[in-house]
Amino acid sequence: MSIKFYNTLTRKKEEFKPINEKEIRMYSCGPTVYYFAHIGNLRAYLFMDNLRRILKYNGYNLKHVMNITDVGHLVSDADEGEDKMMKAAKRENKNPFEIAQFYMDAFLADIDKLNVDRPEIIARATEHIDVMEEYVKKIIDNGYTYQTEDTVYFDTSKLDKYGVLSNRNIEDQKAGARVEFDENKKNIADFALWIKAPENHIMKWDSFFGKSYPGWHLECSAMGYKYLGDNFDIHTGGVDHIPIHHENEIAQSKGFSGKIPANYWMHVEFLQINGGKMSKSLNNLYTLKDLEEKGYEPLVYRMFNFTSNYRAQINFTFEAMDSAKVALNRLREGYLRHSEGNEYVSDDEIKNYEERFLEAINDDLNMPVAMSVVWDVVKNPKKSQKLKELLLKFDEVLGLDLKNYKKEEKTLPKEILELVNLRNEARANKNWSESDRIRDILIEKGYTVKDSKEGTIVEK
Ligand code: AMP
Ligand code: ZN
Repeated sequence: MSIKFYNTLTRKKEEFKPINEKEIRMYSCGPTVYYFAHIGNLRAYLFMDNLRRILKYNGYNLKHVMNITDVGHLVSDADEGEDKMMKAAKRENKNPFEIAQFYMDAFLADIDKLNVDRPEIIARATEHIDVMEEYVKKIIDNGYTYQTEDTVYFDTSKLDKYGVLSNRNIEDQKAGARVEFDENKKNIADFALWIKAPENHIMKWDSFFGKSYPGWHLECSAMGYKYLGDNFDIHTGGVDHIPIHHENEIAQSKGFSGKIPANYWMHVEFLQINGGKMSKSLNNLYTLKDLEEKGYEPLVYRMFNFTSNYRAQINFTFEAMDSAKVALNRLREGYLRHSEGNEYVSDDEIKNYEERFLEAINDDLNMPVAMSVVWDVVKNPKKSQKLKELLLKFDEVLGLDLKNYKKEEKTLPKEILELVNLRNEARANKNWSESDRIRDILIEKGYTVKDSKEGTIVEK
């Protein structure tokens, strides 16, 4: 069955035609590891994973690269402001290499918890400085750059067109004036490829330009080329990458090989919070750990993301998370219910579900429609092994780890029961300090304790 993807490059939903039927080559822009990922960032990797799983479900093999930006870069896309990694290093009194290692590990732990399949190749920028150097030298040799004392710039006026993805012309960019004009640049859209390191700059390497470091955009072009060649199938990222980072990647590739590196460019929309932007100053920026501390297992956040298409903004609320929690439980219960039964369900009925599911996922990852098919299977009144197997098959795309789901032990361990009994006794004697002390021990052991008129509920 054909797959359709919305391609930012052509601004159309198109039939997906792989370059090589045997293996899809794909590149995803990864995280900058100077802080914990927030749940908005994580939406981007859930999208990436959803796409991976759908391609695999369709029988394709993948060679998928994701970069880790661990070289320090400036806080704006347009090479201005403070160096993110240095800023974090100062904040935490560590060196930038330690910062990068720590937050990369934290990021990988988060995506593991979300059951995001790791790309075949995870490429750290700091381990590819030589690859970037070779790449930039060729762009220089091809005549697409100019140099100031401390920076090698890409000269966008040398291109037939700059701005192929966002379809903006440079005049619009000037008018928008989001990018302040740097006196050293010849054209407003020009950007840094390689930068001489100031004395106090820690992340720097010996190169053709002295002690220096690469510009941010370069790593994706150079590592994409190294692992996937100069023309591969799919490139993904967040919508914020469209106007600068991905335009610059395309510019670099054109300067290097004359080609646009990928045939399909796919971008995931932003997660909003209570209808607005997430930000530290509004105190509404959450990490996966924050959600866990509020009692949501990571897969609930995964489930929540299936309520909207990746190309639409999605609004995060705790009410929506509660609904996702209920939905995940319903799905698990449905899976267990079908596991218990052996009622007759015809092959045609199964085939019909399969076709509807495949049609939905192959229509530009339409997960809300795919989920409606999942619910039809869950709600099927017959209890059937075939329906259980079907849910497991759909779970190859959903990634909700159904096969490892077992009903949680409802009875409490003996030690905990004894503590609960002691606490009940203390409460009956109005010995509140003793009751509080035992409650703290239970919490310490990973249990929640809720007192109500009907009695005390203790849960893992
Ligand atoms: P960064 O680590 O800042 O480079 O961002 C990592 C990824 O998160 C990028 O693909 C961004 O496009 C994406 N991203 C950042 N904020 C959000 C958000 N609120 N919703 C969805 N994706 C986001
Ligand atoms: Zn990138």
